[in-house]
Amino acid sequence: MDSAASRILKARQYAMERDQRVRVHSFEVELHGENANHKVSYEDSTWHCDCEEFGLRGVCSHVMAMEEILGESVEPAQLVVPLVP
Ligand SMILES: [Zn+2]
Repeated sequence: MDSAASRILKARQYAMERDQRVRVHSFEVELHGENANHKVSYEDSTWHCDCEEFGLRGVCSHVMAMEEILGESVEPAQLVVPLVP
């Protein structure tokens, strides 16, 4: 097998084993929501989204979508427990 073919096979294997092989440190994406676009970012295990729900709860459908896409490569978002007045 030539080296190009073996690289392709290895890359495919790494991609299939992404939950064990890949650890995301940071990224920023634009997610096209139903009503608006949202900027979702992740830095050193901390999530952020510019939507209102995230501001209130520390998690939102946009962050959850990215968690679903990235699987075990990212840390789960921490739900903010609201202070009882
Ligand atoms: Zn959001």
